[in-house]
Amino acid sequence: MNILPPNFVTNLKCIICGKEYPHGNIFTCSQCGDQGILDVKYDFDSAGSNLKSQTSNRPFDHWRYLELLPISPSLHPPFLYIGWTPVYDVPRLARHVGVRKLFLKDDGRNPSNSFKDRASSVGVLKAIEFGFKEIACASTGNAASSLACLSAATGLNSYIFVPERAPEPKITQLLIFGATVFRVKGTYEQAFDLSKQSCDQFGWYNRNSGTNPFLVEGKKTAGLEIAEQMKDHLPDWVVVSVGDGCTIGGIGKGLQEMKLLGFIDHVPRLLGVQAEGAKPIFDAFSSGQDLIPTDTNTIADSIAVGTPRNWRRAIQQIRLSHGEMVAVSDEEILEAMRVTARLSGVFGEPAGVAGVAGLRKAIEQNIVKSNETALVVITGNGLKDIQSAKQAAGKENIIKPTLDAVAEVLEKQLKQ
Ligand SMILES: *Cc1c(COP(=O)(O)O)cnc(C)c1O
Repeated sequence: MNILPPNFVTNLKCIICGKEYPHGNIFTCSQCGDQGILDVKYDFDSAGSNLKSQTSNRPFDHWRYLELLPISPSLHPPFLYIGWTPVYDVPRLARHVGVRKLFLKDDGRNPSNSFKDRASSVGVLKAIEFGFKEIACASTGNAASSLACLSAATGLNSYIFVPERAPEPKITQLLIFGATVFRVKGTYEQAFDLSKQSCDQFGWYNRNSGTNPFLVEGKKTAGLEIAEQMKDHLPDWVVVSVGDGCTIGGIGKGLQEMKLLGFIDHVPRLLGVQAEGAKPIFDAFSSGQDLIPTDTNTIADSIAVGTPRNWRRAIQQIRLSHGEMVAVSDEEILEAMRVTARLSGVFGEPAGVAGVAGLRKAIEQNIVKSNETALVVITGNGLKDIQSAKQAAGKENIIKPTLDAVAEVLEKQLKQ
């Protein structure tokens, strides 16, 4: 990619009151406060015609949609391969779950093994554009390891705040990518507040994705890709696990933009999936009331968010697509982890496969019909959380080095 096309951003607009702001280093609406998340707006006529004339020459990664990203022409995207993750047709899993056709889009194949690389890759470019050499975030896991990874690729210093209970594999990723890691003796909320204060105090760029308007644009690329990859056989449903709400909000936005530009003629219905132990967005969606923060208790750590920041955008996008939401138990998530791996060969972390559990539940509840088709976004790789994977998988056979011992195990297996 030599010459980048011009930037097509027109302005930023508050998702609550609609107040508009020029494209710059701002986060939330001055009138609506922290809840007033800003949405990036584009000149769709120019962006669309430019994009249509260019896509056939572009590499298959998520920068192929540059016109629909808030990226300046002078910036060079990180060289790591991000996006255009594969979509698999998985008939055995489809039969097990009970739909006519099922597709998995495996976002565990991104550089740091989660969907978050789509957002972090835009975040590091915005930090560079705004003149920062340091970037920070608070995260329970994937946003952090992703930011550490993309910072390593682009030469930024990263400062990561994690709560005391963060999973070890994700901490290990942070350390190997060279991040300065602050393991805060306290809750996620305390780590979040401390990271924000530190950004102000030490002059770091803030990647906290709930409120940074540019990060959701990176997440949007999965929606753009689904439209292009599935153009001729769009699924009836696109299924996404929901924590803060940025992922489903971004995917919905991407699909809507591809409809606006005429790439697809309708938008699939979104099915948002939360864990029963952390379902404030599900509750707000069901009641039609404002969100009430909750405690969290689920093995799906990546969607264990009690105070989601982007819930309005999530619900807006789900409603716009005539979508639905469901909540699933930890047992159902563990079952989904096991059957997804065994009936498709795709290994996802608990939040990564929660969509498969949610699809199953939506069929039980007659929300999704057995003659319909669905695509589940697998948002993170299973090795991110070995403890849960082992819980789902059962035990290995420890044997003496003899053929008899092998035969004994096989016999036992036959009887089961
Ligand atoms: C972050 C994350 C999600 C949910 O994304 P939100 O924007 O928080 O809703 C789902 N799955 C995985 C693996 C994640 O890391």
